[in-house]
Amino acid sequence: MDIKFSAEDVAFRNEVREFFATEYNGDASTRLGANAAADYKSDIVAWQKKLHAKGWIAPGWPKEYGGTDWTSTQKFIYETERGLAGIPDVVPFGLKMVAPVIYTFGTEEQKARFLPRILSSDDWWCQGYSEPGAGSDLAALSTSADYAGDNYIVNGRKIWTTFAQYADWIFCLVRTSKGIRRQEGISFLLIEMNTPGITVKPIVTIDGKHSLNEVLFEDVAVPTENLIGEQDKGWTYAKALLAHERTGMAEVADSKRMLDGLKKRATAEINGGKPMIEDPVFQMRMSDIEMELMALEYTELRVFASMASGGMPGPESSLLKIKGTEISQAIHELQLQLAANYGGALSTDLSSDELGHDFAAEARGKYMYGRAATIYGGSNEVQRNVIAKAVLGL
Ligand SMILES: Cc1cc2nc3c(=O)[nH]c(=O)nc-3n(C[C@H](O)[C@H](O)[C@H](O)COP(=O)(O)OP(=O)(O)OC[C@H]3O[C@@H](n4cnc5c(N)ncnc54)[C@H](O)[C@@H]3O)c2cc1C
Repeated sequence: MDIKFSAEDVAFRNEVREFFATEYNGDASTRLGANAAADYKSDIVAWQKKLHAKGWIAPGWPKEYGGTDWTSTQKFIYETERGLAGIPDVVPFGLKMVAPVIYTFGTEEQKARFLPRILSSDDWWCQGYSEPGAGSDLAALSTSADYAGDNYIVNGRKIWTTFAQYADWIFCLVRTSKGIRRQEGISFLLIEMNTPGITVKPIVTIDGKHSLNEVLFEDVAVPTENLIGEQDKGWTYAKALLAHERTGMAEVADSKRMLDGLKKRATAEINGGKPMIEDPVFQMRMSDIEMELMALEYTELRVFASMASGGMPGPESSLLKIKGTEISQAIHELQLQLAANYGGALSTDLSSDELGHDFAAEARGKYMYGRAATIYGGSNEVQRNVIAKAVLGL
């Protein structure tokens, strides 16, 4: 495994650090999901526009469509520095999910119409995959799109749609016919959110915030030109998208930063006359997490080294997702423990952050919302099934 950085890579790392330090003003500091402050959208769009102006908005895209043309090492450096600096990732639905589907399977007209506005963050996208009866078993989806000349008429209900309240567009999996296999007969449609017949209903999560929604479709007319690829072949495109979604879920650099913050707070926080960091039980738990994180980092580096020499991430991405999310949840749990009684207190005004220690509200919110990490992006149980089949051959 060769993970040494060249002089060029070190120079690149310095440039990234410098850019983050001087250009990021912290406005968009609320992380995806654990947010939904009123100004979240404008803050994150402003930050993404700065990245776009720098040419760094889409490291994963091919150069011809606006990508950075970075090496795998540069992409790794960029992600690590972003996590360590506590800078939010770009909102993935446009840049990391639908865009790769459009530039891989879309027509030239679709590429010209959608990609520039995704790059410039002028269009906000959301993902309409899950339905009340179709989550892990996505092929069970039943939202229908009936072909009617120039339009498809869409009826049905999507759920857990993150940031639908901000979205200009939604990419949807819809059923266009009943195939022999359930995966057949599914199509991939791009739908403008202001089309008549669409209703967005908020779902408030356990942390008292609003990032999730239900999206209802009632006789929504969608031009057939908004179909990606071939009718009934959407499953193929959907699978390609999920591979993109799972990449980078280990979030090692983010967890390192959180653990570092935890240590500092545990040093300052006095409990029973001693700093919490000297509490043997707390210490043991923290060391356990630190060791797990170190092991995860080396696993990620192994995957990265194989990708740098031309390999593709395989079932390792399931392993990274499971361990990465478990570790971040364990850190959230310790943060909550550190906040002690204030960690459990809920204000009657759920949006209030002014209770207890300055970090208690944050710890509480992250702990609660963080439960979702082992569910979204393919639940951890389902990832274990992938490992059982692909690695253990069960
Ligand atoms: C915060 C959050 C944001 C989300 N954002 C979006 C979004 O923007 N767009 C979107 O389309 N979806 C979104 N989702 C939905 C997400 O993709 C689904 O929640 C996920 O796929 C699980 O589906 P489900 O909720 O229907 O649970 P189910 O699939 O019903 O699973 C319930 C439980 O059963 C387990 N289980 C299910 N099948 C198996 C199996 N074969 N083997 C073992 N265990 C199994 C699961 O692990 C889970 O514990 C989001 C979810 C969350 C929590």
